[in-house]
Amino acid sequence: MRLVIKFGGVPVKDGRSIRNAAQLVVARYRRGDEVVAVVSAMAGITDELVAIAHRLLEPGTNAEQLISDFMDRISGRHLQACKDAIDDEATLSRTSRAVENALENLERVLTGVAYLGELSPRSQDLIMSFGERLSAPILAGAIQSLGVPARYLTGFEAGIVTDNRHTEARPIFELTRKLVRQRLGKLLAARKVPVVAGFIAGTEDGIVTTLGRGGSDYSASIIGASIGADEIWVMTDVDGIMTADPRVEPDAKVIDTISYLEATELAYFGAKVLHPKTIEPAMELDIPVRVRSAFNLSHPGTVIVRKPRKVKNTVKAITMSKEVAVITVGGPGMIGMPGVAAAVLDILARANIKVLMISQSSSQANISFVVPRAELEAALKALRVEFAERRIDWRIDYDRNASIIATVGAGMKGTPGVAARVFGTMGRENINIIMIAQGSSELNISFVVAEEDAIKAVRALHAEFGLGRGPR
Ligand code: ADP
Ligand code: ASP
Ligand code: MG
Repeated sequence: MRLVIKFGGVPVKDGRSIRNAAQLVVARYRRGDEVVAVVSAMAGITDELVAIAHRLLEPGTNAEQLISDFMDRISGRHLQACKDAIDDEATLSRTSRAVENALENLERVLTGVAYLGELSPRSQDLIMSFGERLSAPILAGAIQSLGVPARYLTGFEAGIVTDNRHTEARPIFELTRKLVRQRLGKLLAARKVPVVAGFIAGTEDGIVTTLGRGGSDYSASIIGASIGADEIWVMTDVDGIMTADPRVEPDAKVIDTISYLEATELAYFGAKVLHPKTIEPAMELDIPVRVRSAFNLSHPGTVIVRKPRKVKNTVKAITMSKEVAVITVGGPGMIGMPGVAAAVLDILARANIKVLMISQSSSQANISFVVPRAELEAALKALRVEFAERRIDWRIDYDRNASIIATVGAGMKGTPGVAARVFGTMGRENINIIMIAQGSSELNISFVVAEEDAIKAVRALHAEFGLGRGPR
């Protein structure tokens, strides 16, 4: 069968884990499968790249020292991983040289940023791209050293072409499909294993772009859909998609099967285990997506398909999106005025702000919406500037420390009383609800609470709907 296997950050966190990933790829290859591997950066590396890029801009930084310490650390980690993942000398020295080459490039880029004192989204993409450009060649080397021909490619070399919305680029689908099919198809026909750097792509001019944080999952599904894969596997550090984030609710359990739409809602409302855009390309072609642990292959994981068999739970999972903020626009001048929501959303759309939830009071005296916390300042600025220009005197209030809680499950559709149970539970727990989504999909009920109440809310709902494994 034709398989795309994506390895997340923890599954490639060090040489031993990379070797383990290589063994899985090789085992499938030897069974006769056609395999494309897609790789994330080693755990933590993308965060470190973002952090250093920003630190270089801080006034009074000793950039030279900072870069030199950083390069020592990052070189040490990747070159050690080469040694631990690759046995044969020739492959080891070839791979180490490729990694050193990428490290030299990275150092030059960081030095450039320090000199210029400026970090555009385009430079940020270039810097972030090194995480995957360092990890993917090591996995390719590890596969080769197990005797299987593998070929490392960046996302762009594999054929993923995007627009130029740096840090959140969108693929140009028709072109991407054609190029990926041609390029990877050729390698597969020659019985080679393409090892593609996830997360990164490029514009038609070849400028490096990224698909948004956590975007390697999306790379895998774009590739899977382009080559007509039979399945897409997302190998990560948990056994599958769970009834809640196991870091928040230790009693969470793995969901064995879930629909494309439910998985999308879960991801959209904060289940980090899957990038929210992952499902769309797979769904178009009905390709099953499996989320599995790279460290526990005996567990079948979660399979995501169009129509899972009936399960008894109405609510399948509880999610939490922690880092959000609520903005409320209101004022007596708004009452009865048509098009208020449209005007406000238009301003935010033009400022490229992601609006996660909206709610309007029936009197129309105010409208509230939720944005990612990182985008709060930009959103407030856009609204204030536009209101001033247009002499609009609506008041703008905001709440920086909010979280979205969502209960997700297709069985909620047409089941009366679910909302009452959700809000009754919040009442019992003394958790104040700041906002409820208007016209949300029937697959979920989502609402906003203060950030400090978020974990308590998830755990209370998880228990209320009996989602846990129960006493052990
Ligand atoms: P990767 O690097 O493999 O893509 P991520 O860190 O992006 O891994 O995603 C895996 C993590 O997602 C898990 O370790 C877990 O803490 C978190 N997570 C959040 N919600 C869920 C959920 N509902 N089910 C499983 N994992 C979840
Ligand atoms: N390395 C990227 C990130 O940390 C992409 C990914 O891991 O999916 O966001
Ligand atoms: Mg991820």
